[in-house]
Amino acid sequence: MKKIIQISLVLLILMIITVGYTSGYGAGEKSVSAYAAVQDGNGTLKEAAMENVPADRQYAVEPDKIANDNKTTDGSKTTDDNKLTDSNNTKINNNVKDGDKIKDSSKIKAGSGQKDIPASGMADQGKPMVALTFDDGPHPKYTAEIVEALKKNDARATFFVLGSRAEKYKSTINTIVENGNEIGNHTYSHRELTRLKKSEIQSEIKKTSDILEAITGKAPFLTRPTYGSVNENVKTCAGSPLILWSVDTLDWKSRDKEKIVHRTLNTVKDGDIILMHDIYKSTADAAKVVISELRARGYQLVTISQLYQARDISLENGKEYFECSTYYAENNKK
Ligand SMILES: [Zn+2]
Repeated sequence: MKKIIQISLVLLILMIITVGYTSGYGAGEKSVSAYAAVQDGNGTLKEAAMENVPADRQYAVEPDKIANDNKTTDGSKTTDDNKLTDSNNTKINNNVKDGDKIKDSSKIKAGSGQKDIPASGMADQGKPMVALTFDDGPHPKYTAEIVEALKKNDARATFFVLGSRAEKYKSTINTIVENGNEIGNHTYSHRELTRLKKSEIQSEIKKTSDILEAITGKAPFLTRPTYGSVNENVKTCAGSPLILWSVDTLDWKSRDKEKIVHRTLNTVKDGDIILMHDIYKSTADAAKVVISELRARGYQLVTISQLYQARDISLENGKEYFECSTYYAENNKK
């Protein structure tokens, strides 16, 4: 009898330790190690491995909260009703036909302030436009698929890449740029910048910038802070405009093509910056549908620099940007 009690006690202690460890991991610390495992792949990243990465690895806080916070801090959001809020808006369809090709870059000079307008030209100022953005890549397969879909649809996007992946997939970086898309800085190792010292923030940004300059011949102009986290140190140390987003597709969470497509097409409106991650098959599949459908609805798909340049906004270092609707542009011109 005594032995049974002893065994039971040991089992009970083991259970407590196990439960404590599991819940501690799930509720508290972000799964940085799991993320690093993905990042440190040897060039043969497997979808199965990536699908096992816990869904919360992308964000320090609930993404919906980020999106909502963005909206409340941005006054222009309250007037959305006046604009192209309905994704099924037939007015857009009627006004804009597929022939709205983005103008030839050779005729357009880079605007004041935007020193890094990619060689893909400029959007038509008066027509609706949206900026698709892809974080955490490049991925040798999925990024290339997205770039191909953009090309087929006379569309551009911005890819906020990690320095650690850029140095691994240099040719993918070149593919992005050669097709008129923009490259932005998403840090070297995806650490949350707000938790770092100034010198560490600068190192994360500069290391990536140097890698990209070595590959493309040009340092990136824009930064997307990891996890959307920004504080005064990040603003000071980034040395570039900080590009956030107005539409979070939650692609990293759902990993479901239909859900990503649905969420995007049902919330998109003129001037939106749409957040996706080009390291998932589901995102690449969804992006193909989203790109062609947005084009069919008459949206120009432009890079971040093109979006702001088209609406005469000079992006400033250390300032946060969430969208560029015509309303925002009217109220933020200098
Ligand atoms: Zn990221």
